[in-house]
This record gives sequence, structure tokens and C-alpha cells, in this order.
Amino acid sequence: VSFNSARFLISASKLDECPPDYGAEVAFAGRSNAGKSSALNAITVNGKLARTSKTPGRTRLINFFSLNKENMHLVDLPGYGYAKVSRDMKDDWQKHLGHYLNERRCLRGLVLVMDIRHPLTEFDQMMIEWCEHNKLPLMILATKADKLKFGQAKTAMLGIANKLKKYEYVEHLVMFSATSKLGLDECRSVLTNWLET
Ligand code: GDP
Repeated sequence: VSFNSARFLISASKLDECPPDYGAEVAFAGRSNAGKSSALNAITVNGKLARTSKTPGRTRLINFFSLNKENMHLVDLPGYGYAKVSRDMKDDWQKHLGHYLNERRCLRGLVLVMDIRHPLTEFDQMMIEWCEHNKLPLMILATKADKLKFGQAKTAMLGIANKLKKYEYVEHLVMFSATSKLGLDECRSVLTNWLET
């Protein structure tokens, strides 16, 4: 599979608007501002790809991107943590996201993007627990690593790894930077593995 030719396919606000549930896909989640769009753009070498997901009106939707092989997708899940959304909108968000995560058979793995300086937020914990519960492989990208000195980044990674020891389905923890491309090869190889096996 090649990530270079990823293209926006469709936005879905609920499960029955998603593309047919066959093939293989990997979904990306992250708290708002964690760096999820930048990570997706770096992975797909497309400066604009995930901006699609930030277009007003699409920020709360599940956005599908097709890869070069038929029925292979990367999926951008709506970010969580907008300061101004109402309680109802949050409930709505959880419901539709929950449906997608629970029902989607072709989902092979989840990528959780977190800021290496603010790791393991409440949202992150929730997603990790959900993966454990559903036996879904998880890759964590500790992104914006370029914002720290290498020694600090290493220390932060050790701290995160320590807290993740107890989780069986956290398969990969990657020090990442969309800016410097650190961790990009590793991340792509995990995605390839998930999508092709
Ligand atoms: P999203 O809300 O999770 O999609 O976050 P964005 O990808 O839009 O990133 C939020 C902010 O962090 C933006 O200002 C990005 O330019 C910045 N950012 C994202 N990734 C990196 C990174 O790896 N390094 C640095 N230095 N900044 C980043």
C-alpha cells in the first residue's frame, strides 16, 4: 500500500453513512490540537489532506481517505475537546464515534495522537481503555517531539511507556514529529502491516 496518493473520499456523520464495511482501515483519534491533522498530512505527504477534516462543518464528522488499493482507508475521527461545544454535542459525538468504533468490522487498528508534552489526557485514557476492551491494536504517536530536547523527549517517552505497561493492546509507542518527520517510517510500516495482513 502507498500512502502518497491518499485522497478524500467521504464524510460520514453516522455509521450508516460510512463506506461499505469491507476491506481494511485504520482510524486516527486525538484530542483537538494534539497534532492529528499534521500527522495525517505527514503520513500521506499531502499538505492539505486532513485540512479537509477541519473545514467548518466537517470537524464533527468521520472523514474517510482512500489509499491506492481498493477498499483501504485511513479514517480521521473527530477531535475531542472543543471548548465551546455544548453537552448535547458532546453526547452526540460520543454516540456516533462509539457506534463507529464498536460496529466497524474492517477496522484493523487505531492510531492515537497525543502531544508528547501533554500525554495521556482523560480522552486518551478513554480511547486506550476502549481498545483494550475491544481487543483492537493501538499505536500511540507521541507527537511534537521536536518541541523538546532529545533527552527530555526520551524521558517523556519512558514515563509514558511506564504508564502503558499494563495494556496489552498498545502495540506501538512512537516518538513522532510531523515537523521533523521523526518516527514517520516506523509509523508507516505499522500501518502497512495492519492494512495488509
Ligand atoms: P489537530 O487538532 O490534532 O488536528 O492538530 P493540528 O495538526 O492542527 O496541530 C495543532 C497545532 O500544533 C498546529 O499549530 C500545528 O502546526 C502544531 N503541530 C502539529 N504537529 C506538530 C509537530 O510535530 N511539531 C510542531 N512543532 N508543531 C506541530
